[in-house]
Amino acid sequence: MDLYEYQGKELFARAGIPVSEGRLATTAEEARAAAEELGGQVVVKAQVLVGGRGKAGGIQLADTPEQAEEHAAAILGMDIRGHVVRRLWIERASDIAKEYYLSVTFDRGEKKPLFMLTTEGGVDIEEVAEKSPEALARLHVDPLEGLQPWHGRWLIFTAGIDSPSEQKQVTAIVEKLFGAFVDFDAMLCEINPLIVTPDGEVKALDSKFTVDDNALYRHSDIADMRDLEAADPRERLAREKGVTYVKLDGEIGILGNGAGLVMATLDVIDQVGGRPANFCDLGGGGDAQGVVEALEVITSDEQVNAILFNIFGGITRCDEVARGILTALGQMEIRHPIVVRLDGTNAEEGRRLLTEAAPANLYVEETMLSAAEKVVSL
Ligand code: GDP
Ligand code: MN
Repeated sequence: MDLYEYQGKELFARAGIPVSEGRLATTAEEARAAAEELGGQVVVKAQVLVGGRGKAGGIQLADTPEQAEEHAAAILGMDIRGHVVRRLWIERASDIAKEYYLSVTFDRGEKKPLFMLTTEGGVDIEEVAEKSPEALARLHVDPLEGLQPWHGRWLIFTAGIDSPSEQKQVTAIVEKLFGAFVDFDAMLCEINPLIVTPDGEVKALDSKFTVDDNALYRHSDIADMRDLEAADPRERLAREKGVTYVKLDGEIGILGNGAGLVMATLDVIDQVGGRPANFCDLGGGGDAQGVVEALEVITSDEQVNAILFNIFGGITRCDEVARGILTALGQMEIRHPIVVRLDGTNAEEGRRLLTEAAPANLYVEETMLSAAEKVVSL
Protein backbone atom coordinates (compact mmCIF):
# COMPACT_ATOMS: atom_id res chain seq x y z
CA MET A 1 0.00 0.00 0.00
CA ASP A 2 1.43 3.33 -1.08
CA LEU A 3 1.02 6.28 1.26
CA TYR A 4 0.64 9.93 0.40
CA GLU A 5 3.55 12.21 1.18
CA TYR A 6 1.80 13.67 4.23
CA GLN A 7 0.99 10.21 5.58
CA GLY A 8 4.55 9.05 5.12
CA LYS A 9 5.75 12.20 6.84
CA GLU A 10 3.46 11.46 9.77
CA LEU A 11 5.18 8.08 10.12
CA PHE A 12 8.58 9.77 9.71
CA ALA A 13 7.67 12.16 12.53
CA ARG A 14 6.63 9.25 14.74
CA ALA A 15 10.01 7.65 14.06
CA GLY A 16 11.78 10.87 15.03
CA ILE A 17 12.81 12.00 11.55
CA PRO A 18 12.67 15.81 11.20
CA VAL A 19 9.92 17.09 8.89
CA SER A 20 8.32 20.50 8.39
CA GLU A 21 5.07 21.46 10.01
CA GLY A 22 2.07 21.31 7.70
CA ARG A 23 -1.69 20.97 7.28
CA LEU A 24 -3.93 18.95 4.99
CA ALA A 25 -6.35 20.85 2.76
CA THR A 26 -8.99 19.66 0.32
CA THR A 27 -10.27 23.07 -0.81
CA ALA A 28 -8.64 26.37 -1.75
CA GLU A 29 -10.23 28.00 1.32
CA GLU A 30 -8.72 25.36 3.60
CA ALA A 31 -5.37 25.94 1.94
CA ARG A 32 -5.63 29.64 2.68
CA ALA A 33 -6.58 29.00 6.32
CA ALA A 34 -3.68 26.55 6.65
CA ALA A 35 -1.26 29.13 5.25
CA GLU A 36 -2.58 31.74 7.70
CA GLU A 37 -2.10 29.36 10.63
CA LEU A 38 1.40 28.35 9.57
CA GLY A 39 2.43 31.94 8.84
CA GLY A 40 5.14 33.12 6.45
CA GLN A 41 6.03 31.43 3.20
CA VAL A 42 4.40 28.05 2.58
CA VAL A 43 4.64 25.39 -0.09
CA VAL A 44 1.43 24.01 -1.62
CA LYS A 45 1.96 20.36 -2.51
CA ALA A 46 -0.32 18.12 -4.59
CA GLN A 47 -0.91 14.80 -2.83
CA VAL A 48 -0.97 12.03 -5.43
CA LEU A 49 0.37 8.50 -5.40
CA VAL A 50 2.87 9.22 -8.17
CA GLY A 51 6.25 10.95 -8.28
CA GLY A 52 7.45 13.91 -10.31
CA ARG A 53 4.87 16.32 -8.92
CA GLY A 54 7.34 19.19 -8.96
CA LYS A 55 7.99 18.88 -12.70
CA ALA A 56 4.24 18.62 -13.36
CA GLY A 57 3.55 21.92 -11.60
CA GLY A 58 1.98 20.30 -8.55
CA ILE A 59 4.32 22.01 -6.07
CA GLN A 60 4.24 25.80 -5.66
CA LEU A 61 5.67 28.25 -3.18
CA ALA A 62 3.31 30.90 -1.78
CA ASP A 63 4.33 34.07 0.04
CA THR A 64 0.86 34.97 1.31
CA PRO A 65 -2.33 33.11 2.24
CA GLU A 66 -3.96 34.66 -0.86
CA GLN A 67 -1.26 33.17 -3.06
CA ALA A 68 -1.64 29.81 -1.32
CA GLU A 69 -5.34 29.92 -2.11
CA GLU A 70 -4.63 30.74 -5.78
CA HIS A 71 -2.09 27.92 -6.13
CA ALA A 72 -4.42 25.51 -4.35
CA ALA A 73 -7.25 26.37 -6.75
CA ALA A 74 -4.93 25.72 -9.69
CA ILE A 75 -3.51 22.45 -8.36
CA LEU A 76 -6.76 20.88 -7.09
CA GLY A 77 -8.28 18.84 -9.90
CA MET A 78 -5.00 18.82 -11.83
CA ASP A 79 -4.19 15.53 -13.55
CA ILE A 80 -0.67 14.39 -12.70
CA ARG A 81 0.21 11.39 -14.83
CA GLY A 82 -3.27 9.92 -14.56
CA HIS A 83 -3.81 10.88 -10.91
CA VAL A 84 -6.32 13.61 -10.11
CA VAL A 85 -5.34 15.88 -7.22
CA ARG A 86 -7.95 15.88 -4.45
CA ARG A 87 -5.75 16.63 -1.46
CA LEU A 88 -3.10 19.23 -0.76
CA TRP A 89 -0.39 19.38 1.84
CA ILE A 90 0.37 22.93 2.93
CA GLU A 91 3.76 23.03 4.55
CA ARG A 92 5.94 25.73 6.06
CA ALA A 93 8.46 26.45 3.28
CA SER A 94 12.09 25.49 3.79
CA ASP A 95 15.21 27.21 2.53
CA ILE A 96 17.32 24.72 0.68
CA ALA A 97 21.13 24.72 0.54
CA LYS A 98 21.61 21.11 -0.59
CA GLU A 99 19.40 18.22 -1.72
CA TYR A 100 20.41 14.67 -0.81
CA TYR A 101 18.65 11.35 -1.38
CA LEU A 102 18.19 8.58 1.18
CA SER A 103 16.12 5.42 0.95
CA VAL A 104 15.78 1.94 2.30
CA THR A 105 13.97 -0.73 0.30
CA PHE A 106 13.99 -4.46 -0.28
CA ASP A 107 16.57 -5.96 -2.57
CA ARG A 108 14.76 -9.16 -3.42
CA GLY A 109 17.77 -10.62 -5.20
CA GLU A 110 19.92 -10.28 -2.08
CA LYS A 111 16.97 -10.93 0.26
CA LYS A 112 18.10 -7.98 2.34
CA PRO A 113 17.09 -4.38 2.97
CA LEU A 114 19.13 -2.01 0.83
CA PHE A 115 20.10 1.53 1.79
CA MET A 116 20.90 4.11 -0.85
CA LEU A 117 22.38 7.52 -0.13
CA THR A 118 23.64 10.19 -2.49
CA THR A 119 24.39 13.88 -2.27
CA GLU A 120 22.90 14.23 -5.77
CA GLY A 121 19.29 14.27 -4.59
CA GLY A 122 16.21 16.13 -5.76
CA VAL A 123 16.24 14.53 -9.21
CA ASP A 124 15.17 11.06 -10.32
CA ILE A 125 17.30 8.50 -8.54
CA GLU A 126 17.23 6.30 -11.66
CA GLU A 127 19.02 9.12 -13.44
CA VAL A 128 21.77 9.27 -10.80
CA ALA A 129 22.13 5.49 -10.87
CA GLU A 130 22.58 5.63 -14.64
CA LYS A 131 24.74 8.73 -15.12
CA SER A 132 26.93 8.71 -12.01
CA PRO A 133 26.65 5.33 -10.28
CA GLU A 134 29.80 6.11 -8.24
CA ALA A 135 27.88 8.91 -6.50
CA LEU A 136 25.33 6.44 -5.14
CA ALA A 137 26.29 4.71 -1.89
CA ARG A 138 24.51 1.35 -1.68
CA LEU A 139 24.63 -0.88 1.37
CA HIS A 140 22.74 -4.00 2.38
CA VAL A 141 21.71 -4.66 5.96
CA ASP A 142 21.70 -8.24 7.20
CA PRO A 143 18.13 -8.64 8.51
CA LEU A 144 19.22 -10.94 11.34
CA GLU A 145 22.13 -8.77 12.42
CA GLY A 146 20.06 -5.58 12.10
CA LEU A 147 21.40 -2.08 11.59
CA GLN A 148 24.85 -1.51 13.09
CA PRO A 149 26.46 1.88 13.79
CA TRP A 150 29.02 1.28 11.03
CA HIS A 151 26.27 1.08 8.40
CA GLY A 152 25.44 4.77 8.82
CA ARG A 153 29.11 5.77 8.92
CA TRP A 154 29.91 3.76 5.79
CA LEU A 155 26.99 5.39 3.95
CA ILE A 156 27.92 9.00 4.79
CA PHE A 157 31.62 8.52 4.02
CA THR A 158 30.95 6.66 0.77
CA ALA A 159 28.41 9.29 -0.32
CA GLY A 160 31.01 11.98 0.49
CA ILE A 161 29.16 13.91 3.18
CA ASP A 162 32.04 15.67 4.94
CA SER A 163 30.49 18.23 7.29
CA PRO A 164 30.61 16.77 10.85
CA SER A 165 27.24 18.29 11.73
CA GLU A 166 25.60 16.80 8.64
CA GLN A 167 27.30 13.46 9.26
CA LYS A 168 25.80 13.33 12.75
CA GLN A 169 22.31 14.25 11.59
CA VAL A 170 22.29 11.95 8.54
CA THR A 171 23.52 8.91 10.50
CA ALA A 172 20.77 9.56 13.06
CA ILE A 173 18.20 9.75 10.24
CA VAL A 174 19.57 6.51 8.74
CA GLU A 175 18.93 4.78 12.07
CA LYS A 176 15.45 6.25 12.45
CA LEU A 177 14.55 5.43 8.87
CA PHE A 178 15.55 1.82 9.41
CA GLY A 179 13.47 1.86 12.61
CA ALA A 180 10.47 3.10 10.62
CA PHE A 181 11.12 0.52 7.88
CA VAL A 182 11.05 -2.34 10.37
CA ASP A 183 8.40 -1.08 12.80
CA PHE A 184 5.87 -0.15 10.13
CA ASP A 185 6.56 -3.21 7.94
CA ALA A 186 7.54 -1.01 5.03
CA MET A 187 8.65 -2.14 1.58
CA LEU A 188 10.09 1.28 0.74
CA CYS A 189 10.98 4.39 2.74
CA GLU A 190 12.39 7.09 0.50
CA ILE A 191 13.39 10.68 1.25
CA ASN A 192 13.99 12.70 -1.92
CA PRO A 193 15.10 15.30 -1.27
CA LEU A 194 16.66 15.02 2.16
CA ILE A 195 17.61 18.67 2.46
CA VAL A 196 20.25 20.65 4.27
CA THR A 197 19.02 24.16 5.10
CA PRO A 198 21.37 27.17 4.96
CA ASP A 199 21.57 26.86 8.78
CA GLY A 200 22.85 23.30 8.41
CA GLU A 201 19.70 21.55 9.53
CA VAL A 202 18.95 18.21 7.80
CA LYS A 203 15.32 17.20 7.23
CA ALA A 204 12.96 15.20 5.06
CA LEU A 205 11.30 17.44 2.47
CA ASP A 206 9.45 14.62 0.71
CA SER A 207 8.40 11.08 1.56
CA LYS A 208 7.62 7.98 -0.43
CA PHE A 209 6.37 5.23 1.83
CA THR A 210 5.09 1.79 0.85
CA VAL A 211 3.78 -0.58 3.50
CA ASP A 212 3.53 -4.33 3.01
CA ASP A 213 -0.18 -5.15 2.45
CA ASN A 214 0.29 -8.46 4.20
CA ALA A 215 1.31 -6.69 7.42
CA LEU A 216 -1.59 -4.24 7.54
CA TYR A 217 -3.47 -6.49 9.96
CA ARG A 218 -1.09 -5.35 12.66
CA HIS A 219 -1.18 -1.66 11.69
CA SER A 220 -4.86 -0.75 11.70
CA ASP A 221 -3.97 2.95 11.88
CA ILE A 222 -1.99 2.68 8.62
CA ALA A 223 -4.65 0.48 6.99
CA ASP A 224 -7.14 3.30 7.69
CA MET A 225 -4.94 5.68 5.68
CA ARG A 226 -5.97 3.97 2.43
CA ASP A 227 -7.71 6.42 0.09
CA LEU A 228 -10.50 4.37 -1.43
CA GLU A 229 -11.26 7.08 -3.98
CA ALA A 230 -7.76 7.13 -5.42
CA ALA A 231 -7.89 3.59 -6.81
CA ASP A 232 -9.16 2.96 -10.33
CA PRO A 233 -12.91 2.25 -9.94
CA ARG A 234 -12.46 -1.15 -11.58
CA GLU A 235 -9.63 -2.04 -9.22
CA ARG A 236 -11.89 -1.05 -6.35
CA LEU A 237 -14.70 -3.24 -7.72
CA ALA A 238 -12.19 -6.08 -8.13
CA ARG A 239 -10.98 -5.73 -4.53
CA GLU A 240 -14.59 -5.86 -3.31
CA LYS A 241 -15.19 -9.01 -5.35
CA GLY A 242 -11.90 -10.61 -4.38
CA VAL A 243 -10.66 -10.67 -7.99
CA THR A 244 -6.96 -10.17 -8.67
CA TYR A 245 -7.08 -7.40 -11.25
CA VAL A 246 -4.76 -4.64 -12.44
CA LYS A 247 -5.95 -2.08 -14.99
CA LEU A 248 -3.69 -1.57 -18.01
CA ASP A 249 -3.91 0.74 -21.03
CA GLY A 250 -4.95 -1.54 -23.91
CA GLU A 251 -8.07 -3.02 -25.48
CA ILE A 252 -7.85 -6.76 -24.89
CA GLY A 253 -9.33 -8.08 -21.67
CA ILE A 254 -7.25 -10.92 -20.26
CA LEU A 255 -8.22 -13.73 -17.90
CA GLY A 256 -6.00 -16.60 -16.95
CA ASN A 257 -5.42 -19.02 -14.14
CA GLY A 258 -2.16 -18.35 -12.37
CA ALA A 259 -0.19 -15.11 -12.16
CA GLY A 260 2.72 -16.42 -14.21
CA LEU A 261 0.46 -17.58 -17.02
CA VAL A 262 -1.31 -14.21 -17.08
CA MET A 263 2.02 -12.38 -17.22
CA ALA A 264 3.07 -14.59 -20.13
CA THR A 265 -0.25 -13.85 -21.84
CA LEU A 266 0.39 -10.10 -21.61
CA ASP A 267 3.75 -10.66 -23.31
CA VAL A 268 2.26 -12.77 -26.09
CA ILE A 269 -0.49 -10.20 -26.74
CA ASP A 270 2.23 -7.60 -27.06
CA GLN A 271 4.27 -9.88 -29.30
CA VAL A 272 1.43 -10.19 -31.83
CA GLY A 273 0.78 -6.45 -31.84
CA GLY A 274 -2.09 -6.13 -29.36
CA ARG A 275 -2.39 -4.24 -26.11
CA PRO A 276 -3.72 -5.86 -22.93
CA ALA A 277 -6.48 -3.96 -21.07
CA ASN A 278 -5.76 -5.62 -17.77
CA PHE A 279 -4.08 -8.31 -15.74
CA CYS A 280 -6.63 -10.71 -14.21
CA ASP A 281 -5.81 -13.90 -12.40
CA LEU A 282 -8.69 -16.31 -11.79
CA GLY A 283 -6.48 -18.23 -9.39
CA GLY A 284 -6.63 -21.98 -9.12
CA GLY A 285 -10.37 -22.25 -9.58
CA GLY A 286 -12.44 -21.69 -12.67
CA ASP A 287 -15.84 -21.89 -11.03
CA ALA A 288 -18.70 -20.02 -12.67
CA GLN A 289 -19.07 -17.44 -9.90
CA GLY A 290 -15.38 -16.51 -10.11
CA VAL A 291 -15.63 -16.19 -13.90
CA VAL A 292 -18.78 -14.04 -13.66
CA GLU A 293 -17.13 -11.70 -11.18
CA ALA A 294 -13.94 -11.40 -13.21
CA LEU A 295 -15.94 -10.77 -16.41
CA GLU A 296 -18.00 -8.10 -14.67
CA VAL A 297 -14.85 -6.26 -13.68
CA ILE A 298 -13.21 -6.64 -17.10
CA THR A 299 -16.25 -5.60 -19.14
CA SER A 300 -16.83 -2.53 -16.95
CA ASP A 301 -13.76 -1.12 -18.72
CA GLU A 302 -15.12 0.63 -21.83
CA GLN A 303 -11.77 0.36 -23.54
CA VAL A 304 -12.08 -3.43 -23.76
CA ASN A 305 -13.20 -4.72 -27.16
CA ALA A 306 -12.21 -8.39 -27.06
CA ILE A 307 -11.55 -10.94 -24.33
CA LEU A 308 -9.01 -13.72 -24.06
CA PHE A 309 -9.21 -16.61 -21.62
CA ASN A 310 -5.90 -18.37 -21.26
CA ILE A 311 -6.36 -21.50 -19.18
CA PHE A 312 -3.84 -24.14 -18.38
CA GLY A 313 -5.43 -27.08 -16.62
CA GLY A 314 -3.30 -28.53 -13.88
CA ILE A 315 -5.14 -29.42 -10.73
CA THR A 316 -8.05 -27.40 -12.13
CA ARG A 317 -9.49 -29.43 -15.01
CA CYS A 318 -10.22 -27.71 -18.32
CA ASP A 319 -13.70 -29.26 -18.55
CA GLU A 320 -14.58 -27.67 -15.21
CA VAL A 321 -13.34 -24.30 -16.42
CA ALA A 322 -15.28 -24.74 -19.68
CA ARG A 323 -18.46 -25.42 -17.69
CA GLY A 324 -17.69 -22.38 -15.55
CA ILE A 325 -17.33 -20.20 -18.64
CA LEU A 326 -20.56 -21.52 -20.17
CA THR A 327 -22.50 -21.03 -16.94
CA ALA A 328 -21.09 -17.52 -16.62
CA LEU A 329 -22.04 -16.66 -20.21
CA GLY A 330 -25.52 -18.00 -19.48
CA GLN A 331 -25.82 -15.56 -16.57
CA MET A 332 -24.57 -12.46 -18.33
CA GLU A 333 -24.58 -11.12 -21.84
CA ILE A 334 -21.22 -10.32 -23.39
CA ARG A 335 -21.09 -8.74 -26.83
CA HIS A 336 -17.33 -8.71 -27.23
CA PRO A 337 -15.65 -11.52 -29.12
CA ILE A 338 -14.21 -14.06 -26.68
CA VAL A 339 -11.30 -16.37 -27.42
CA VAL A 340 -10.65 -19.31 -25.14
CA ARG A 341 -7.43 -21.22 -25.11
CA LEU A 342 -7.58 -24.43 -23.12
CA ASP A 343 -4.62 -26.70 -22.58
CA GLY A 344 -3.60 -29.25 -19.99
CA THR A 345 -5.74 -31.65 -17.99
CA ASN A 346 -8.96 -32.60 -19.83
CA ALA A 347 -8.35 -29.94 -22.47
CA GLU A 348 -10.01 -31.90 -25.25
CA GLU A 349 -13.14 -32.45 -23.20
CA GLY A 350 -13.19 -28.77 -22.32
CA ARG A 351 -12.81 -27.67 -25.93
CA ARG A 352 -15.53 -30.07 -27.02
CA LEU A 353 -17.94 -28.67 -24.41
CA LEU A 354 -17.25 -25.14 -25.57
CA THR A 355 -17.46 -25.90 -29.28
CA GLU A 356 -20.81 -27.64 -28.83
CA ALA A 357 -22.51 -25.20 -26.50
CA ALA A 358 -20.82 -21.87 -26.94
CA PRO A 359 -22.42 -18.73 -28.36
CA ALA A 360 -21.35 -17.48 -31.79
CA ASN A 361 -18.96 -14.87 -30.41
CA LEU A 362 -16.82 -17.49 -28.65
CA TYR A 363 -13.80 -18.97 -30.40
CA VAL A 364 -11.73 -21.89 -29.14
CA GLU A 365 -7.99 -22.10 -29.76
CA GLU A 366 -5.40 -24.68 -28.79
CA THR A 367 -2.25 -22.67 -28.32
CA MET A 368 -1.44 -19.46 -26.54
CA LEU A 369 0.06 -17.91 -29.69
CA SER A 370 -2.86 -18.79 -31.98
CA ALA A 371 -5.31 -17.56 -29.33
CA ALA A 372 -3.43 -14.26 -29.02
CA GLU A 373 -3.36 -13.81 -32.81
CA LYS A 374 -7.07 -14.62 -33.03
CA VAL A 375 -8.14 -12.20 -30.29
CA VAL A 376 -6.01 -9.40 -31.73
CA SER A 377 -7.45 -9.90 -35.23
CA LEU A 378 -10.99 -9.93 -33.81
P1 GDP B 1 8.26 15.43 -6.20
O1 GDP B 1 8.55 16.31 -7.37
O2 GDP B 1 6.95 14.71 -6.36
O3 GDP B 1 9.37 14.49 -5.86
O4 GDP B 1 8.04 16.43 -4.93
P2 GDP B 1 9.07 16.99 -3.84
O5 GDP B 1 8.35 17.07 -2.55
O6 GDP B 1 10.34 16.21 -3.82
O7 GDP B 1 9.35 18.47 -4.34
C1 GDP B 1 9.96 18.72 -5.57
C2 GDP B 1 10.88 19.90 -5.45
O8 GDP B 1 10.15 21.05 -5.03
C3 GDP B 1 11.97 19.71 -4.42
O9 GDP B 1 13.06 18.99 -4.91
C4 GDP B 1 12.31 21.14 -4.10
O10 GDP B 1 13.25 21.63 -5.03
C5 GDP B 1 10.99 21.89 -4.27
N1 GDP B 1 10.43 22.14 -2.94
C6 GDP B 1 9.59 21.36 -2.23
N2 GDP B 1 9.35 21.88 -1.01
C7 GDP B 1 10.05 23.02 -0.94
C8 GDP B 1 10.26 24.02 0.07
O11 GDP B 1 9.75 23.94 1.21
N3 GDP B 1 11.05 25.06 -0.24
C9 GDP B 1 11.67 25.19 -1.45
N4 GDP B 1 12.45 26.22 -1.66
N5 GDP B 1 11.52 24.27 -2.42
C10 GDP B 1 10.72 23.19 -2.17
MN1 MN C 1 10.57 14.13 -4.24
